Amino acid sequence: MRNQFLAYSLPQIGEEEINEVVDSLRSGWVTTGPKVKRFEAEFAHYAGARNAIAVNSCTAALHLSLKACGIGPGDEVIVPTMTFCATANVVEHLGAKPVIADVGSEGLLDAEAVYPLLTARTRAIIPVHFAGQACEMHDLLELAHCRGVQVLEDAAHAVGAAYHGTPIGTLGRTTSFSFYATKNMTTGEGGMITTEDDQLAVLLRRLALHGMSRDAWKRYTETGSWYYEVMEPGYKDNMTDIQASMGLHQLRKLDGFIQRRRGIAARFDAAFRRYEELQLPEELPGRRHVYHVYAVRIREGRLRIDRTGFIDELRKRNIGTSVHFIPLHRHPYYRDTYGYRPEQFPNAEHFFKGLFSLPAYPRMTDEDVEDVIAAVTGVIENHRASTTVRVGLDVAAGVDLRPNAERVLPS
Ligand SMILES: *Cc1c(COP(=O)(O)O)cnc(C)c1O
Repeated sequence: MRNQFLAYSLPQIGEEEINEVVDSLRSGWVTTGPKVKRFEAEFAHYAGARNAIAVNSCTAALHLSLKACGIGPGDEVIVPTMTFCATANVVEHLGAKPVIADVGSEGLLDAEAVYPLLTARTRAIIPVHFAGQACEMHDLLELAHCRGVQVLEDAAHAVGAAYHGTPIGTLGRTTSFSFYATKNMTTGEGGMITTEDDQLAVLLRRLALHGMSRDAWKRYTETGSWYYEVMEPGYKDNMTDIQASMGLHQLRKLDGFIQRRRGIAARFDAAFRRYEELQLPEELPGRRHVYHVYAVRIREGRLRIDRTGFIDELRKRNIGTSVHFIPLHRHPYYRDTYGYRPEQFPNAEHFFKGLFSLPAYPRMTDEDVEDVIAAVTGVIENHRASTTVRVGLDVAAGVDLRPNAERVLPS
């Protein structure tokens, strides 16, 4: 057993980020300035998007997206229940109503769940690319288009993910990314909005900085003017050059980070697939999963311990875990305000039961990865339900009958 606690998540920050931050501190440009501009340009290029607007969080990105699309009181916005609370909270902040949808396979929002919830008041849908895997966007976009509804993507987990070869960032009217400390790339706190709509980009940029007329940040440069006009009461959501200093280098390292995350996920898949007690995440057809989260589910009735017990056992073995997410409909505010009952969300309830996330981040060494595997398999071996009937390889038929069998190649 390892003798040092392995945190669920730690960022990978190198000397490049540190030196760049120091450079900003020495330069005197500590708020929005030239590095934010450069970070926006490089991010837009990476995502293949026309416009990128840097902000101080993904929460702000989602809030500004809704605001810029005119969402307000009386409007309904469909959000999946398997998400972080920010996705729905920002709808509330604008006086609109979040309508919480059940999810389909792999915890992802799909058109089937959205369709029955559409009303004359529905103005937007926020698909969440849960765990780092894109939703089935073709169907969602088609349904939204037919009904004149905006699609605003929550890509907090999905920087670098792709949908049928297209990088996430251009499919919806806006796409919101997170650079929170645990996300696939980080600026400490931070976010980005991408959009193909140039006019919307101007509006988003203005709303992010007090509603002031264009290039407000240039007021303090040589060529800038003291004059500005407030076009509407905007917000204070701008990113600083200190954050962008980190972002510039994190972005350059991102493909390497993703490769490492995918490598760890593949190692976990290989090690866990012979354990029928666990249901493993799957990469769906046409997706590039970036494994922001590697979430497994304990299958019912196979172990003598539940999720809480499993997590406690892992902690005793010095392995940190997390749960992504407690479904929105279970949180007191949403449950009590809108009277949601668990029965309305059968897929999410099934998905949530036994769900927890394992550490799987670039800063982990190969030894850390093996420690996680040893701890998880050790807990399973020690807590198997005695009634479990283990179905092995049916050699005569040449077929693997175990759950997850589709993932096993005959050797
Ligand atoms: C992290 C997260 C957010 C919020 O991101 P911040 O940058 O912390 O505001 C929004 N949605 C989802 C799905 C998230 O996981």
